[in-house]
Amino acid sequence: MTIAPRKRKAARRPSPVPKLLFGDLWEYAPAPERADSLHLADRYGHFIDGAFVERGAWFPSINPATGETLFEVPEADAGVVDEAVRAARRALAGPWGRLPGRERAKLLYRIGRRIQENARELAILETIDNGKPIRESRDVDVPLAAAHFLHHAGWADKLEYAFPAARIAPLGVVGSIIPWNFPLLMAAWKIAPALATGNTLVLKPAETSPLTAIRLAELMREAGLPPGVVNIVHGPGATGERIVDHPGIAKIAFTGSTEVGKRIQRRLAGSGKRLTLELGGKGAQIVFEDASLDQAVEGIVDGIYFNQGHVCCAGSRLLVQESVLDTVIAKLENRIATLRVGDPLDKNTDVGAIHSRAQLEKIEELVRSGIEAGAKMHQLGCELPERGWFFRPTFFTEVAPSSRIAREEIFGPVLAVQSFRTPEEAVRKANDTRYGLSAGIWTDKGSKLFAVAGALRAGVVWGNSFNRFDPASPFGGYQESGFGREGGRQGLSAYLEVRP
Ligand code: NDP
Repeated sequence: MTIAPRKRKAARRPSPVPKLLFGDLWEYAPAPERADSLHLADRYGHFIDGAFVERGAWFPSINPATGETLFEVPEADAGVVDEAVRAARRALAGPWGRLPGRERAKLLYRIGRRIQENARELAILETIDNGKPIRESRDVDVPLAAAHFLHHAGWADKLEYAFPAARIAPLGVVGSIIPWNFPLLMAAWKIAPALATGNTLVLKPAETSPLTAIRLAELMREAGLPPGVVNIVHGPGATGERIVDHPGIAKIAFTGSTEVGKRIQRRLAGSGKRLTLELGGKGAQIVFEDASLDQAVEGIVDGIYFNQGHVCCAGSRLLVQESVLDTVIAKLENRIATLRVGDPLDKNTDVGAIHSRAQLEKIEELVRSGIEAGAKMHQLGCELPERGWFFRPTFFTEVAPSSRIAREEIFGPVLAVQSFRTPEEAVRKANDTRYGLSAGIWTDKGSKLFAVAGALRAGVVWGNSFNRFDPASPFGGYQESGFGREGGRQGLSAYLEVRP
């Protein structure tokens, strides 16, 4: 990449950043979303062939904000996985396999509408099972999940236009394995394109967050989806391996950690099964001195503290041009002082619960490593709830590029700040990672934005914004962030046999 050299402007002098007094003047009254009208069962089974099947050793799903058990689900052994794959194969060979695209479109559309009609309930379920703030599940997860079904409804009867002059066919039974950070949204990302392209599937939610997939199964059945088209089995990683190994599976669509993604890739080698991997990330946000800094700070905060930082495309590295570094740090410190950490069901909460004890321990361990490596920690000095798992929004300055906090995916509300002098150095530092999923660029200059974006090795690059998602836009990574794209026309091809 070459970026035309330009004359260096006189460095912008950091103006004193006034303190925001907002949080000091008054306290918010609690505004909890009412969850008392929900009636959770004590136990939920697997969803196979259109019915809930209670078979396997039961294990609990825990509310991360309280540590209390919400309900139990059974672990799918090899027999249950086999039953689910057989149901999916029968559905493929049955009426579903002959259903014209326009009929699949109607079903997808109905599912999208059912999600919208039940949005409030789904948002509450997601929040209690996952720990994310209700504001996010209500305004991001649920609307985007619906949007994925509605978008793919539009494609289902137009596939021949998406792949003109090609012969296309569904792959067969897709095994979808999803993580706990966006349970409903990831289910929608996997189910909607698979159905639009005529496949059937077996989905495994993360063992710690199966609730919205269970409710989605009910909604899909109400929408008239034939039995066996979508099957949902519960369990730990071992259940995922059973799906990966099953000979009746044609493709694995996986979202999760790079470590497990690699393991799956090794297991599938030579099997002939198709694979798409959407894995970890260590996305860089690059702030140039000509950027609108207030806007950039909002994007930085959203990029790392959204969903407690449990986001594969989080902007977890911040690269700031040296001339505005002090100003950005002061503004950032100021801004995080206004964040509210606490009850995820409270509509005023910005940062909810860390999803599990194991994840909290991982975050704490990496933060300790940052302190030991000599980085300077800046942390919101708020009180944390007595119950549940929480972590204060944190960022580090004086971060060594070789330190673990600069290189490893923390998957928590922790940002590593570094500086740069020239666009070339910014690009070099941003690309100095084994990942390649996301990046953000903040600048007033359109030409600079496009030049830098073109030089970044990241699947998604946002310009003067961050965390913008659209089902029409392909999402995926390079290097250890995985391969294959989800969304858009590229996402459809991952579920089809396309022959010229
Ligand atoms: P995993 O990659 O272990 O989990 C993702 C999904 O894969 C879950 O459904 C999991 O089941 C399943 N799984 C686990 N092991 C196997 C296996 N051997 N074969 C097939 N499927 C398997 O992520 P974790 O939840 O354990 O989180 C670990 C770390 O990964 C986090 O700390 C975070 O850094 C990163 N992560 C990254 C994500 C991303 O989107 N980039 C998403 C989630 C985590 P089960 O839930 O039962 O473990």
